[in-house]
Amino acid sequence: MADCIFCKIIAGEIPSTKVFEDETMLAFRDIDPQAPEHIVIVPKAHIESTNDINVTNSGFVAAIFEKIPQIAANCGFAEDGYRVVNNCGKNGGQTVPHLHFHLMGGAAAGKMY
Ligand code: 5GP
Ligand code: ZN
Repeated sequence: MADCIFCKIIAGEIPSTKVFEDETMLAFRDIDPQAPEHIVIVPKAHIESTNDINVTNSGFVAAIFEKIPQIAANCGFAEDGYRVVNNCGKNGGQTVPHLHFHLMGGAAAGKMY
């Protein structure tokens, strides 16, 4: 989608440090990490937010969650655990309107609220 930062990263128009890619998803390092290991995982399909997940596109979400353990293991922090976060909309703190999951590890996470 035009003017979507994550679609531009997927298309290679904006550089990123990729940690995993297949035909349905891309995982890359967050530009402003909030944990020692902070990876953003996006479906390649432009889905705006969790509010737009439905029966026709939920397979992309399932594929991401099936791959998260491998991504965490490859990055060396699976064994100690990690946090997966999705921000949806204004009150969720979503700043990029392309569905994504934050995979954060490398240190004990704090409380969210
Ligand atoms: P949100 O706040 O929407 O849940 O998360 C968006 C995330 O994308 C933020 O953590 C932000 O640092 C990250 N981000 C925004 N623009 C870029 C970019 O151009 N490159 C990378 N690698 N991360 C980005
Ligand atoms: Zn997009």
